[in-house]
Amino acid sequence: MEGTFSGIRLSGKTVYHGITIGKVMVLRNDKDQIRRRKIADPAREIERVRMAVDVSKQQLAAIYHQAVKKLGESSAAIFEVHQMMLEDKDFLNAIDHMIRTELVNAEYAVAVTGDNFEEIFAEMEDAYMQARAADVRDISARLVRNLSGQGNKEFCMTEPSVIVAKELSPSETVQLDKEKILAIVTEQGATNSHTAILARMMGIPALIGVPLDFDAIRSGMTAIVDGAAGEVIFEPTVLQRGEVEEKIRCEQEKLRLLQELKGKKTVTSDGRTIRIYANISGVSDVAYVLENDAEGIGLFRSEFLYLRRSDFPSEEEQFRAYRQVVQMMGQKRVVVRTLDIGADKQADYFQLGREENPAMGYRAIRICLRQPEIFKPQLRALLRAAVYGNLAILYPMIISCEEVAQIYAVVKEVEEELKQAQIPYRVPAQGIMIETPAAVMLSDELAEQVDFFSIGTNDLTQYTLAIDRQNPRLEAFCPPHHKAVLRMIQMVVDNAHKRGKWVGICGELGADLALTETFVNMGVDELSVTPSMVLKLREKIRLI
Ligand code: PEP
Ligand code: MG
Repeated sequence: MEGTFSGIRLSGKTVYHGITIGKVMVLRNDKDQIRRRKIADPAREIERVRMAVDVSKQQLAAIYHQAVKKLGESSAAIFEVHQMMLEDKDFLNAIDHMIRTELVNAEYAVAVTGDNFEEIFAEMEDAYMQARAADVRDISARLVRNLSGQGNKEFCMTEPSVIVAKELSPSETVQLDKEKILAIVTEQGATNSHTAILARMMGIPALIGVPLDFDAIRSGMTAIVDGAAGEVIFEPTVLQRGEVEEKIRCEQEKLRLLQELKGKKTVTSDGRTIRIYANISGVSDVAYVLENDAEGIGLFRSEFLYLRRSDFPSEEEQFRAYRQVVQMMGQKRVVVRTLDIGADKQADYFQLGREENPAMGYRAIRICLRQPEIFKPQLRALLRAAVYGNLAILYPMIISCEEVAQIYAVVKEVEEELKQAQIPYRVPAQGIMIETPAAVMLSDELAEQVDFFSIGTNDLTQYTLAIDRQNPRLEAFCPPHHKAVLRMIQMVVDNAHKRGKWVGICGELGADLALTETFVNMGVDELSVTPSMVLKLREKIRLI
């Protein structure tokens, strides 16, 4: 490189932390090479599209199976969705129409139609639907590759590399050989895109939204990716290399020291204990829980089993997922939160419709209590899975004792049904999320009704401070340790303990090391955090 990029720092948004240095591998966008050609035989071009669709579906089925093994069923579901998208009549008819009316080649018709559909998704208001634009781009690029005979693009990396791309599609990300990826840096992408989700799941340092100049960046260059600082440095100077190598050594040493805490007790120097559990969103995350020696799972966000698909997961499918998690965790407790769909977590088959204020809308337990046909299969699956291990159920967004009574009535019905059908089941411990100010104020009465509380500080902060947790502009108004929220936590702990119930924190505040001592002093019984924070918290607590 002629020095153009020597030591140039570019900033982006961190998807996954970590720091690394290595050789760059640029993945080019095939669409750039598509040419418009006039054709004489539209029927032949349409037949070529049909054949490319068939081949693409076969490839996606293979990728799906590969992804199930690597990442688990719920993360792999996107590749089933891609197969279904390839059957979409609107998409296929639009391609045929363009070939017939404009007499253009199949590659061009697919690429242009793909662009149009992508734009439609990108302009939708819903963040989840916007993120689907990447999926449309992914399937049309695959079709084009199959039409032009490039087949299934394999990423042959001979040495571990920093992947640099305009955008990585979910199917490309999952095909990457994890052992050979040092980091991912992309120009486009959203934090809730599938690619970001998959990168986090695979634990790869990743940055998105980096203003990359593809005329200047080439494979073979060296790059430093610093996830913690949210920056990438191409062709670093000797000094920068030295600095980063030192940082990496420190990180590795810290990690090595943390490993020594595996199997050790989470106890303060004066003998107080607090449980450190982990949060997960799918079966595949259990590997990270075990790797980081969490003492249990304090929050399984079950709604992720409902996302990225086109219909409800069946009772059987859910039962298998919950059973697998409890079995993998042995005797350790697994707290599964029932469906918390709505607000930012949308699935169009729920047909929730547009709301003025979705965070305060028809969501979570409100949907479950109003639509037992959705709630009951999940409860049946949970009661059945409870037979296989230490499972507990957690209900989200509770605002009253009446809601808890209604939930118990549905659980009773489900229990009766399972008994009648002679299906093995167990009614496990049941707790509620404390994430509304109403639940805090009623925590004395609620504690009489339930087995435990789990404080959701993300929503509790949002509803207490009237600050939308999704709006980055409001971050400046949101003091992370607001006294009002901390007082609420103390109130909930006291009310629960008076009635012999335990309290955990499963919101992001639980992983805030600056508050660990405060939570221990408050008497919080459990902190449930992202798996990579477990050992850091244990270290912190042992020093109190
Ligand atoms: C919370 O609100 O703090 C919580 C843990 O739940 P979620 O982030 O899934 O809303
Ligand atoms: Mg919440």
